[in-house]
Amino acid sequence: MATWVIHHADMLVTMDGQRREIADGGMIIRDGVIEAVAPTNELPTVVEARKIDMRGYVVMPGLINTHHHLYQTLTRAVPAAQNATLFNWLKTLYPIWARMDAEAVYTSALLGMAELLLSGCTTASDHLYLFPEKDSGFFIDTQIEAARELGMRFHATRGSMSRGRSNGGLPPDSVVQTEDFIMKDCERLVHKFHDAQKFAMTRMALAPCSPFSVTTELLKLTAVMAKKWGVRMHTHLAETIDEEVFCRKLHKMRPLEYMESVGWVSEGNAWFAHCVYINEAEAKKMGKTQTGVAHCPCSNLRLGSGIAPIRMFMKHKVPVGLAVDGSASNDSSDMLGEIRQAMLVQRVKAGVEGMSARDAFKLATRGGASVLGRTDIGSIEPGKAADIAIFDVSGLDFAGSRSDPLASLLFCGSSHRARYTIVNGKVVVKNGRLVNVDEFKLAERANKAAAALYRKAGC
Ligand code: ZN
Repeated sequence: MATWVIHHADMLVTMDGQRREIADGGMIIRDGVIEAVAPTNELPTVVEARKIDMRGYVVMPGLINTHHHLYQTLTRAVPAAQNATLFNWLKTLYPIWARMDAEAVYTSALLGMAELLLSGCTTASDHLYLFPEKDSGFFIDTQIEAARELGMRFHATRGSMSRGRSNGGLPPDSVVQTEDFIMKDCERLVHKFHDAQKFAMTRMALAPCSPFSVTTELLKLTAVMAKKWGVRMHTHLAETIDEEVFCRKLHKMRPLEYMESVGWVSEGNAWFAHCVYINEAEAKKMGKTQTGVAHCPCSNLRLGSGIAPIRMFMKHKVPVGLAVDGSASNDSSDMLGEIRQAMLVQRVKAGVEGMSARDAFKLATRGGASVLGRTDIGSIEPGKAADIAIFDVSGLDFAGSRSDPLASLLFCGSSHRARYTIVNGKVVVKNGRLVNVDEFKLAERANKAAAALYRKAGC
């Protein structure tokens, strides 16, 4: 692997413990690992290194997306689901998603991850929970193949649904699986793909879909097996009032209480998407047990779900990461746009000081790393993986914002496209274009796959 010197960045944002921001900053990357970080004139001399001049750019840790449903990139802006709340939105889209095949899973994974990389995201987690009866046996394997092709760090989660409509759940019976089948496939995937080593490019987690689509038995079994296999757990939680009503009616408990009763809130090995309806006592418990949150502000606004109490989570030291959620409830995979949204919406919830630009960036970097249980990514420091996002602030849309180039990325700008994205020391976005995939051909392939899916669903 090559040695790189990145130098003369307008601002190098480390997100390290001291939150150092270095004007005219630089770093040395050797064999995919950050070796030195300093002002350019203090960097040690390196011979035979490739040098990239970063004048006009902001350099920061690669962004981390902690929750997504990549398959949904093929069902964006579906007219019948544009103005629906979560439960109706799901009921409208399930019949289309039930027709997913390997080509749709592969293409949608490439598409969603390509968008993420182009917005400076270097690590993605995906929650794939929909497995139609026919030919869905290798959907997760297919997603991992797509991540490898693009060069993205990927935390796949084996989602599942085991409570169909006939059993009081929300999904159609045709897309639910038995607990036994689900756990066997989880075991296969963990043994085949989970890499617990430092700098791992692929990790697995277990991810039953939500309290209203899986059985209590499956949640309990998942907690036991996750501990045994040394992997994390993930699900949707406390997203809407409807879900709270469902939990109270069926289980006589609030959503977090229910998850605690099935062994999910004690080991610090779980993270929940959304957490809009969590009270202060529950937030304290999550902080104490280091139970994480994937905050999805765009999705919560899009579905009219509410605003998650992120300020409160920060007060109680709950690990919080940021996430774009599925592309049918956002409807894009724009990580920089999500950070801007996180900053803006928390100001409505908690006042204008509720979320600074820097705190919002922290959620998307260090915060995401802690939610995914990683100490080797999320900041620019010697010994960490070289996952870097680089944005151009030299153009017209940033002119006049030199007083704070980092904050300008959220307050100004009309494009969220990274100039360079580097994952594990490899350049995967160069001059604003994907290195490993032709993005125009990919868009065409995705439109074809979406059209085939709608045709099969009779839309
Ligand atoms: Zn989701």
